[in-house]
Amino acid sequence: MSKAIMLPRFSVGVGDRFAHQAKAQLAACIKAAEAGVDVVPVWNKSNREHTIIGTEPTQTRAAADVAVASLGWKQPYLVDADHITIKTVERFLESCDFFTLDVAEEIGRAAAPDDVDAFVARHPELIGEVRIPRIAEPFHTTGAFLKDVANKFLAAVQEAGRIYRFLVEHKGEGRFVPEISMDETDSPQTPIELLIILAAIADEKIPIQTIAPKFTGRFNKGVDYVGDVGQFAKEFEEDLAAIDFAVQRYGFLSNLKLSVHSGSDKFSIYKVIHEAVVKFGAGVHVKTAGTTWLEELIGLAEAGGNGLEIAKEVYREAFAHAEELCKPYATVIDIDYKRLPQPEDVSNWTSEQYTSALRHDLQNSAYNPSFRQLLHVGFKVASKMGQRYLNALQENEEIVARNVTTNLYERHIRPIFIGH
Ligand SMILES: [Zn+2]
Repeated sequence: MSKAIMLPRFSVGVGDRFAHQAKAQLAACIKAAEAGVDVVPVWNKSNREHTIIGTEPTQTRAAADVAVASLGWKQPYLVDADHITIKTVERFLESCDFFTLDVAEEIGRAAAPDDVDAFVARHPELIGEVRIPRIAEPFHTTGAFLKDVANKFLAAVQEAGRIYRFLVEHKGEGRFVPEISMDETDSPQTPIELLIILAAIADEKIPIQTIAPKFTGRFNKGVDYVGDVGQFAKEFEEDLAAIDFAVQRYGFLSNLKLSVHSGSDKFSIYKVIHEAVVKFGAGVHVKTAGTTWLEELIGLAEAGGNGLEIAKEVYREAFAHAEELCKPYATVIDIDYKRLPQPEDVSNWTSEQYTSALRHDLQNSAYNPSFRQLLHVGFKVASKMGQRYLNALQENEEIVARNVTTNLYERHIRPIFIGH
């Protein structure tokens, strides 16, 4: 049997809604390699996204394969079935070799009382004074606390086990990288909760290589982090310590690492993520998904002419259908409707006005996070334009690609993985 697929230390999740930017994205990883840091690309696309756009995972795979072949990329690359459940996993089986098992829906649903009791009995090490190396202060827990946490997460982990076993049956053990995601839920998980969840995952024998907790603070789509950066830094380091401990104590693969979802544009926490990862010698996976689609719009707007007209049309339609577009993303966007410009005004904008409002440049006073977030979820509008939108991408390939590569490399890969 061939060797099991192992995710390297640094990886970046990239989203390519219309399957036209894989080369431009890979170019950013090549720049990182040239700078001396290996960051492998993982093309991620959720079922929700495929459904909204009307694409299939085979297209994501094909675009990735073409980019890799044409740019001569020799390192690993993967295709991620992002946020799949037992109901949606099927269509991803062929094309993907990374599966993000989304069990957020099960969080808070109580597991069978016998299972909860058995879990508590199996883990006396998680009751009382719990010392995790590299965390200064020990945690103090009680049996009741452990039971509470189990009641919140055990059913979710069991569900992940069902999806994992389904995948093993259909793809084979070691033929894919499993991740468990718990980010799209209401409340963040503390480091001690993360450790307890990892114990449950080990019991369920899921050899995860990444885990995506919900971190403290807001991770809204396409905009900066909102929250206490100091608190985030502390918890992020404690999460790394908990993972190290879990690798030793529960026998996870040594490459187990954190996965940061909605990781694009979280500029204010990249420095602390980078520092923590260096300090712990840890790896990290950061999913950036939708930021690329916004760079397509920026490239089109910058190109002027028909490109700018298309960018304006996307906004006009997104504005008209704002409620419907935002609904699937309610927990991860925060739009101030009063701050959205009127489409009539936008129709008179120059290229520069449009790109200044959209481009995530906090130094620019014209930057408008509400405008940006609405367009972030507005990709459905472009997908409805069909070939007209894709033609515009092709006509303006160079200027779009330049924006995609620069954004991914300069604003994301460099601060997160390379450091300034
Ligand atoms: Zn996510």
